[in-house]
Amino acid sequence: MQVDMIKTISEKLQSHGVRPSFPRVKIYEYLFAKRSHPTVDEIYQHLSPGMPTLSRTTVYNTLNLFLKENLVHQINIDEREVRYDATVDEHGHFQCDSCRCIYDFPVNIDGLELNALGGFRIREKNLYLKGVCSRCLITIKRGIINEEVEGDKDR
Ligand SMILES: [Zn+2]
Ligand SMILES: [Zn+2]
Repeated sequence: MQVDMIKTISEKLQSHGVRPSFPRVKIYEYLFAKRSHPTVDEIYQHLSPGMPTLSRTTVYNTLNLFLKENLVHQINIDEREVRYDATVDEHGHFQCDSCRCIYDFPVNIDGLELNALGGFRIREKNLYLKGVCSRCLITIKRGIINEEVEGDKDR
């Protein structure tokens, strides 16, 4: 990790009232650099070879702290696993049924017509779309992979 990157991330964490310990900086860096909406397990498996003292509990607790301080968002697009996102600006998510990748896309969620909920207090606004991504569609059309997607098999 570059010194500049450590400094930038440390400042970012501090500006949210989070003490920038080494595991916290590494976890945030992974989320920020990868932008793949990883799970606790993916983060742990990626970082543990270089940090033998890291535990899944530390990763989990760190993410909860980041959530509380609005450094990350939780993504519940996949009912089987919770994912985390360092992009906290307004955007929607698309999950591919075939490769299970999650894609970000810009969307004006605040512009949604919600008059029917007048008088309600809205805590979260998420836009989750599902289908097949363009890369997988090309592969399916070529007949390389079967149209039957992973998500349907275990139902
Ligand atoms: Zn795909
Ligand atoms: Zn995202």
